Amino acid sequence: MALVEVKGVSKRFGGLTAVSGVDLTVNAGEVHCLIGPNGAGKSTLFKLIVGLYPPTEGSILFDSVDITRERPYARVQRGMSIKMQAPSVFKELPVRQNIQTALQERLSGAERIAEENRLLTLLNLAPDSDKLAGALSHGQQQWLEIGMALALKPHLLLLDEPTAGMSPEETYKTGELIKSFNAEGVTVLVVEHDMAFVRQVAQRVTVLHLGKIFARGDLESILQDEKVAEIYLGK
Ligand code: ADP
Ligand code: MG
Repeated sequence: MALVEVKGVSKRFGGLTAVSGVDLTVNAGEVHCLIGPNGAGKSTLFKLIVGLYPPTEGSILFDSVDITRERPYARVQRGMSIKMQAPSVFKELPVRQNIQTALQERLSGAERIAEENRLLTLLNLAPDSDKLAGALSHGQQQWLEIGMALALKPHLLLLDEPTAGMSPEETYKTGELIKSFNAEGVTVLVVEHDMAFVRQVAQRVTVLHLGKIFARGDLESILQDEKVAEIYLGK
């Protein structure tokens, strides 16, 4: 069943077409990776899905409802959550309070504390819960931000380059983290460059190039596609 349907979506910034006639379906329950060279339009497509930009043309459906004109907050209430490319945790606040901020709307009292603890454990951040978020390593800050997105209890989580700047070990842990909440029913659309990571998590892969869908399928068939290799090598 389709959770997200992007239909013929384009986004122009003045004379530049960042996203051009894109059709993309994200199925409920899957981990779907979006790959493609820098400037391909991946982050723009994410912002279109969550409503930070209106599309120049096309429509977007979530759970079969046309949400093309809905504000981002309405989409959050429907169950969408995003971790943007640039990390934005509250560095002056302790780790636990960052999670608390994100949970506040949904839970209070003992229920909130229980959910804080569950998320801190899931994120491997329980021992650091009293540290200031700004004192965490770069990788831990990325996990904290994923946790803040998860605190909204999304049906769909969009992750834009969640492993950027991470060590191979942190990247692997991030993959396992994604698999664990996906197993609990969260559908994931993730932008990623690290092919080992894509192999670890993705059920389906879509390649975006110059704003258009360039290839799609399972990772092995995509890796064997010579045209995909060419765009990555810039030939
Ligand atoms: P990716 O995430 O795949 O690297 P982006 O979606 O960030 O690509 O960018 C796609 C293209 O759109 C790039 O050429 C970029 O410079 C341009 N672009 C992105 N956002 C804006 C904006 N707000 N205004 C103008 N141009 C933009
Ligand atoms: Mg980007």
